[in-house]
Amino acid sequence: MSPSAQQALIRVVLPVPLRREFDYLCSQPLPEAGCRVRVPFGNRTLVGLVLSHPQTTELDPARIKPVTAVIDNTPVLNEADRKLLAWATQYYLHPPGEVYFQALPTLLRKGEEAGYRPVESWHALEGDNSSLNRAIKQREAYELLQHTPMTPGELGARGVTSATLNALAKKGLAEKRESLPARTHWRGKVTINEDAKPRLTTEQALAVSVLQQANRFSPFLLEGITGSGKTEVYLQAMEPVLKAGKQVLVMVPEIGLTPQTIARFQRRFPLPVCTLHSAMNERERLDAWLACQDGSAAIVIGTRSALLTPFDQLGLIIIDEEHDSSFKQQDGFRYHARDLALLRAHQLNIPILLGSATPSFESLHNAAAGKYQLLTLSQRPGTATVAEHLLLDSRHVQLEAGLSPQLQQLMAEELGKGNQVMLFLNRRGYAPVLLCHDCGWLADCERCDAHYTWHKNGNRLHCHHCDHQRPRPPQCPQCGSSKLVGTGLGTEQVEQALAMLFPQYNVIRIDRDNTRRKGSFEQHLEGIRAGKYQILLGTQMLAKGHHFPDVTLVAMLDVDGALFAGDFRAAERLAQLYIQVAGRAGRASKPGRVVLQTHHPDHALLQDLANQGYRHFAHTALEERRQAGLPPYSYQALFRCQATQGEACREFLVPLAQQLAPALPASVLCLGPFSARMERKAGQYRYQMLLQANSRRELASACRHALAIADSLPAARKVRWSLDIDPQEL
Ligand code: ADP
Ligand code: ZN
Ligand code: ZN
Repeated sequence: MSPSAQQALIRVVLPVPLRREFDYLCSQPLPEAGCRVRVPFGNRTLVGLVLSHPQTTELDPARIKPVTAVIDNTPVLNEADRKLLAWATQYYLHPPGEVYFQALPTLLRKGEEAGYRPVESWHALEGDNSSLNRAIKQREAYELLQHTPMTPGELGARGVTSATLNALAKKGLAEKRESLPARTHWRGKVTINEDAKPRLTTEQALAVSVLQQANRFSPFLLEGITGSGKTEVYLQAMEPVLKAGKQVLVMVPEIGLTPQTIARFQRRFPLPVCTLHSAMNERERLDAWLACQDGSAAIVIGTRSALLTPFDQLGLIIIDEEHDSSFKQQDGFRYHARDLALLRAHQLNIPILLGSATPSFESLHNAAAGKYQLLTLSQRPGTATVAEHLLLDSRHVQLEAGLSPQLQQLMAEELGKGNQVMLFLNRRGYAPVLLCHDCGWLADCERCDAHYTWHKNGNRLHCHHCDHQRPRPPQCPQCGSSKLVGTGLGTEQVEQALAMLFPQYNVIRIDRDNTRRKGSFEQHLEGIRAGKYQILLGTQMLAKGHHFPDVTLVAMLDVDGALFAGDFRAAERLAQLYIQVAGRAGRASKPGRVVLQTHHPDHALLQDLANQGYRHFAHTALEERRQAGLPPYSYQALFRCQATQGEACREFLVPLAQQLAPALPASVLCLGPFSARMERKAGQYRYQMLLQANSRRELASACRHALAIADSLPAARKVRWSLDIDPQEL
């Protein structure tokens, strides 16, 4: 069809779970690609994003609807942004609308104007101020405002109340105005705080000189042990980029975006630094997003989603802790921010720097294949020492709340010297299982194939998989016995035991249960730094990136479970965690010890890690992956399916696998359907089907084929299913 002269076609994506684009009619002048529109969709109105202006459409002309409204005059996503998202849509084979909308902050998804919120400020007005002689507070406020206009916040900080301001307003001496925040123009005025720069180690200097010369697409892997000064390398690599007026994106894991991190960048560069993370409210996110897009932010520090944010002129991407699993989104649009970051750097022809003490196997593999340039920091600057590693055999010894006598002895020694000790247990609560001593009844979550964790605080049962909570029953519901006992170890229990074993020292527990309140985590960290606590106990929250110079002993209480987990990535994750935890010891001038308590002291993985280090371990483990044909030596895609009945999942996945199999080349493996490791979670049965191939192209074509079959199966409508490309968890 060909639309009328006044109206033309636009092609949009909509935030709906359909793998397609939609055509609408729009009157001239047409909104540019990258602008938002409102369109009718079924009986709703949706916000859509314009992708193109097609000449023709396959739809029946009578059925094409006109747009309801055009929202933007200028695109919210420019061509480069859209190219990245178009590629991501193809690569992840995900519904395009969900991909594109992931790049927009919530307010823009809702159709809100893409502009800064005006800020309020008070201004002094000329007028008869004789009446202020007797009103001291009003006079003081008036004098302040005569000097310069101020926001209500700034005035509040100076003790000026709104009552005072309103009184001034009534007298016609002040008024509140709204205006847009002034944009900071930092380009061409970049200064660097040279005082904050240390003298680089030889290895740092080498890395910095290589990085500072990089000016086109080139991926670097900076492998540096904890405390080796990776951040310093980042800071110096950023210098020439910022001086050239280009923006820098620094991506950090969820847990790493602390005020200390931000302060470190801010101290070196007195430039606009903006942060992007999930704890921000909608308005804050939009303002930060706009600052990236219009270039008023020089440095952007953000978590996973920051990668999809548009930039005005991005010159460098840095990914700290590149191995961290939080860079992969685990629901909806399941992208990996590190992988997309590489693509983005490639498209923009800029360098990208991945840093870690424990690089992912994917990145090590890429470095070995020559795709990434490897930079190494193997030493800590100054007098900082590298820790000694010990494996403590916990067989045949009496453990007290998970602590062997040997460990207690080591703790007592360090504490006696005035040092801090850090204990690590990746399980919060009091005990991971509550059972009846008389009949063996287990407190199991009704909605998951999992036990409740017993939390003594609040005396409740909590399922850590579906978040369901209930009071701990006073008696066994099966036999009426009151002998309900916890088995296994959680942080609450260790905390209690520590108070008995080491009454003269203060213990601080850090896990998700006691850091829920905003700012409480920070408060605990401050307390640790100030020396208020001598024994630090926590889950992996404590393990990541915090510097405690007085910690000289770090112990992992229980990792045995992880040694025998079924997932082929479990060993890699355990090793990364171990090295991360180990990195907490001996960071300053004091030598440190790392202790791992285990019932399997002869386990090859633990021996390798403790005696040879991560690199050696990774080498061995990668060789095993190669022989088994597992990623990164092959590529995987996982069809996930869930429903309230397991049968419904099988009714979908079994015919899917059956119809797909004959169409697959021999080089593509199709496994399953099989149940997820935890078959039932939050009342949903979960099944999956795995595709694996040695070439990405073959895998993608198999996935496309499978998607087409899935769309044709009526059983697909009775379940929730999704496709996960490069799944991190099977
Ligand atoms: P990483 O990120 O590799 O764990 P950091 O960059 O946090 O290490 O550095 C660890 C500590 O060493 C920090 O306190 C940092 O200020 C300091 N540091 C880094 N480089 C140097 C150097 N060349 N000389 C002295 N101290 C340094
Ligand atoms: Zn019982
Ligand atoms: Zn549950």
